[in-house]
Amino acid sequence: DGLLKGRVAIITGAGRQTGIGFATARLFIEHGARVALCDLAAEDPAQAASTLGENAIGLVCNVTDAGACGQAVAAAMEKWGRLDVVVNNAGLTQRRKVAEITEEDYNLVTDVVLRGTLLMTQAALPHLTHGVGSIVNVSSLSAQQGGGIFGGPHYCAAKAGVLGLTRAMAKEFGPEGIRANAIAPGLIMTDFSRRGPSADPGKIEAAKAYPLGRPGQALDIANAALYLGSDMSSYVTGITLSVNGGSFIA
Ligand code: NAD
Repeated sequence: DGLLKGRVAIITGAGRQTGIGFATARLFIEHGARVALCDLAAEDPAQAASTLGENAIGLVCNVTDAGACGQAVAAAMEKWGRLDVVVNNAGLTQRRKVAEITEEDYNLVTDVVLRGTLLMTQAALPHLTHGVGSIVNVSSLSAQQGGGIFGGPHYCAAKAGVLGLTRAMAKEFGPEGIRANAIAPGLIMTDFSRRGPSADPGKIEAAKAYPLGRPGQALDIANAALYLGSDMSSYVTGITLSVNGGSFIA
C-alpha cells in the first residue's frame, strides 16, 4: 500500500458510488492519497466523499464548464496545497445509430467526454507537480473497435478523440515530468450502460464469451488508474491501457 502517499488527486465523475470514478477515489485513498471527487450536483459528490473519510472532499463540478473546473482545482489546492493526479473519468453515452444523432446529442456527449477532458486538464496543468504529475483519461473500448456494447457513434468518436488528445498531452507535458495516459475499459458493471442497474444480469451473460469469462468491475479500472497515476508507471506515457477481459485484443 501507500503507492500514492502524500499525493493529491482530482477525479471527475466520481460521485456515483457504483461507478469507476468513486472506486478509483476509494482505492487512491487506501493508497495514501487525498482526493477531490467531482461530479454534477445531482450525484451529491459531498455526500459521496463523506463516506470516504477526511482525505476526501466532494465538489460540484460540471466538466463542460471551464470556470467550474478552475474552481474545483482551486478548492483542492486551497485544501491540500498541491495537485499530482487528474483522472478525467466523467462521461455518458447514448445508444444511437449515425442517422439518429441530433445536434443536441452530439454536443452533449462530445462536450462531456472530449471538451470536459480538455477543460479539467487545462485547469489542473499549472498546478501539477513536475516529476510526478499524471493525467489519466478514461476512454473506452468503443474508441478502439467502433462501438463497445452500448456506445453510439458520437460516443465512439469522442472517446477516440480522447486517445488523440492523450497522446498530444504526453508529448507536450513529458519534458515537464508530467505523464498522460488513457485507459480503455471494456464492459464494466456500473450504472453506466443503459443507465440500468449495475447488477444487470445481461452483462454477465454477454461476458461469458470473453476470454476471461466475466464483465469487469469498477475496481478493475481503478487498479489500472492506480498504476497509471502512481510512480509504478514512471516510464509510461502516451499509452492506451486496455482493461477488457480480452474482449478486444489488438
Ligand atoms: P457512471 O455513469 O457511473 O459514471 C459516470 C459519472 O460521470 C457519473 O457520476 C456522472 O454523473 C458523471 N458525469 C456525467 N456528466 C458529467 C459532467 N458534465 N460533469 C461531471 N460529471 C459528469 O459510469 P462509469 O461506468 O463509472 O463511467 C466512468 C467512465 O468510464 C465514463 O467516462 C465512461 O464513458 C467510461 N467507460 C465505462 C464503461 C462501462 O462499461 N461502464 C466502458 C467503457 C468506458
